[in-house]
Amino acid sequence: MHSDLEFLVILNDIDLMLDDLGKGNAEVEEKLGFDVSRKEKLEKARDDMRGKCSEAVLRRYDRVRGKYGKVISPVFDGVCYGCFQRLHTELAQISRNEKILSCPHCGRFLYFMK
Ligand SMILES: [Zn+2]
Repeated sequence: MHSDLEFLVILNDIDLMLDDLGKGNAEVEEKLGFDVSRKEKLEKARDDMRGKCSEAVLRRYDRVRGKYGKVISPVFDGVCYGCFQRLHTELAQISRNEKILSCPHCGRFLYFMK
């Protein structure tokens, strides 16, 4: 897998975990014994991951994340499973994860499955 794509997978997971944390009641969670420093730890990990990605990729990431939340979509049989649109033959034929590619229909980053 392209290393930037790997960072994006991790970054997106961290962002989604932070979203989940935001939904909980911090006071109740603390009483139940949850580690309240989780948020800071996740934020630190998110900043580290963002530091590993290029500006251009982060701009695309933030745009897609603002729209959908989940930014990476698997591709099966030439179809983006984020929007269920068929990819152009050329794009579908690349079928590799060597380079970061986006779906031309929804903009999500593509993860090619065999
Ligand atoms: Zn798509």
